[in-house]
Amino acid sequence: MNTKRARCGNVPCEWCDRDDRACRFCRGSGWWRPERPHQTAAGELSWARVDEPCRMCGNTGKEHNALSAPPAH
Ligand SMILES: [Zn+2]
Ligand SMILES: [Zn+2]
Repeated sequence: MNTKRARCGNVPCEWCDRDDRACRFCRGSGWWRPERPHQTAAGELSWARVDEPCRMCGNTGKEHNALSAPPAH
């Protein structure tokens, strides 16, 4: 259903060049579904689920956080 991008937009990007790590925030889907507070017409507070492109991986579904890279030995 939802598509993801091949690259995050940074060129060059070493994270986009590799395919072995899935983004841990969206689990590789490139999308995440946070819940947002939402006020109903009756004035009650409820939660609404929204679909957003994952900002952590630029909607690529590939891990982009350098902090999660395996330590260099
Ligand atoms: Zn990238
Ligand atoms: Zn992601």
